Amino acid sequence: MPELPEVESLRRALARSILGRTIVSVRINEPRLRRVVSPDFPAAVSGHKIEGLRRRAKYLIVDLSGATSILAHLGMSGSLTYRDKRFVPGQFDSRHDHVHFQLDDGNALVYNDPRRFGLLKLVPRAELESTSELNELGPEPIGDAFDAAYLAHQVRGRRAAIKTVLMDQRVVAGIGNIYAAEILFRAGVRPTRRAGRLKRAELERIVAATAPILREAIDGRGTTFRSYRDSRGRPGGFASRLKVYGRAGEPCYACSTTIRKALVGQRTSFYCPHCQH
Ligand SMILES: [Zn+2]
Repeated sequence: MPELPEVESLRRALARSILGRTIVSVRINEPRLRRVVSPDFPAAVSGHKIEGLRRRAKYLIVDLSGATSILAHLGMSGSLTYRDKRFVPGQFDSRHDHVHFQLDDGNALVYNDPRRFGLLKLVPRAELESTSELNELGPEPIGDAFDAAYLAHQVRGRRAAIKTVLMDQRVVAGIGNIYAAEILFRAGVRPTRRAGRLKRAELERIVAATAPILREAIDGRGTTFRSYRDSRGRPGGFASRLKVYGRAGEPCYACSTTIRKALVGQRTSFYCPHCQH
């Protein structure tokens, strides 16, 4: 599932291609995503200029001329790709192209999603913050609001594992299974530890590890796994830099101890039993 770095690197790449373009027409091949794309969607979007492209947690927000924005989520397997009009047939797997945005420069923006857990929803811009998908999200993990004092307040009395807390979008928004594992490795904290029992110094290390890990992943255009693709259909480049995620049975890069896996909150988690306490 795409996490913050995948969505942010996608946002940056798409911004270069689509900002300022006008959406000429929209074709919906399959409206049944996580929720059905509204029948009004093509008419509401066509003829509008793309004036902004923002991210909140794992959501992309496309600001259109007028007062409407498109709230987009890639779900488990979705991708939004910019398709150059010269693109070679076969470069993209078009079987799951559900929504096609024709742009005024002859190129296109295509929402593709084999498993159809994604979301494309029209929201009046003034109501974005209060919309159901965004109104309970915690602070962005890259930003001043996510600091050790805040995290200490959030974990106080919590019996859940620290990894589960880091993945709780109401605590901090945008971190999923991959980056939670990597953050905890860098912080030297086991994913299974009870959040409320962590020492202040450990919480400080977790916060200190978070933004650098996410920034490195954004710079690497995210992580390759299954169907994630960036805006030009290329796989991400961060996979080779993962220290623990997906490495069970392999030696830790820091100490050569075998990386283990454990189930934390129904999710497979990876850690080094020597480097993480
Ligand atoms: Zn180790």
